[in-house]
Amino acid sequence: MKRRRTQEVPLGSLTVGGDSPVWVEAMGRRPPGEWVSCLQEIEEAFSQGCEIFRVAVFDERGVSGLREIKKRRRDLPLVADIHFTLQLAFQAIEAGVDAIRINPGTARDVGLLESLIDFARDRGVTLRIGANTGSLPPSLRGKKRNEALVESVGLCVELAEKKNMRRLILSAKSPDIEETIEVYRRLSKTFPYPLHIGLTEAGGGLEGIVKSSVALGVLLAEGIGDTLRVSLTSQNPVLEVKVGWEILEALNIRSRGVTVISCPTCARVRGNVVLCVQKFRRAIAPLEKVARKTPLKVAIMGCEVNGPGEAREADFGLALSSGGKAALFVRGTVTAVVPQEEALEKLIDLVGKAIQKGEERSR
Ligand code: SF4
Repeated sequence: MKRRRTQEVPLGSLTVGGDSPVWVEAMGRRPPGEWVSCLQEIEEAFSQGCEIFRVAVFDERGVSGLREIKKRRRDLPLVADIHFTLQLAFQAIEAGVDAIRINPGTARDVGLLESLIDFARDRGVTLRIGANTGSLPPSLRGKKRNEALVESVGLCVELAEKKNMRRLILSAKSPDIEETIEVYRRLSKTFPYPLHIGLTEAGGGLEGIVKSSVALGVLLAEGIGDTLRVSLTSQNPVLEVKVGWEILEALNIRSRGVTVISCPTCARVRGNVVLCVQKFRRAIAPLEKVARKTPLKVAIMGCEVNGPGEAREADFGLALSSGGKAALFVRGTVTAVVPQEEALEKLIDLVGKAIQKGEERSR
């Protein structure tokens, strides 16, 4: 799939847009005023693959917290999410954040917004203009929601461009999948700036994951999106980071670590594929961080129907067969036909060694 090329915009140590990867963003649950627990949450999210972290800043204590966090981790791309009290955005910039997210529906003081644009531009700080169906500007509330979303973003872009501010990232979120897709298609056609994509208020658990995956999947498949966030109702941001990565991996947009291809199993299955996959995942988990640098494809398949085909295509594969045996594949060739338990151990050993050697995916 061809990525729609957007203008490059710096965000701390990252570049958003252009040829850069689609970055995974998450949003904190802890208030930045409680900076120790907020930083803990940030570290946990980054350890899981988060690349841009956004925190809601709603008071001066939060600004002080940001300062403490940035003192300790200057390298982490940090976005301050500011509503209503734009004065806090000036302070957050002084505290060292890399970007400010403002919402056209809650940044209502145009004079102050213009000063903020100047302030951010002069200090090399990026502005994300993020509209949301839940907080449309009062003047646009009579319009169709999709039009109001695009228009509200457009008005802020116009203001920024008038002030020669081009470090912009745009977003316009809705909880409705079709509306989200339509709005982002329009943003993508209208503006050259990178887009932060997401379905807002998607819900929690399976429902939120499926809805976000459908919306983001369609957009990414069309080449739309430079950063993404999966908004899930949950206690911490870890799950949203994991789901974001899964979506990118499922579309072959990015890869981190070991991708497991395993069959769903059926009545023909020649052993316990579910257990094999669980044991494999558990054994590889401690190597996850190293594995991110050396993506590998591993197939674990249940029988002779699709097993040999998938196992041959992967870097390493295991295809269960009759008599409690399994065929082990290494880069397309059968290297052993041994009892299933032994085959799994060999597979784990081979993959572990490949990760440690930093082997590159060969196909
Ligand atoms: S590979 Fe074999 S066991 Fe697995 S789903 Fe296909 S037919 Fe069933």
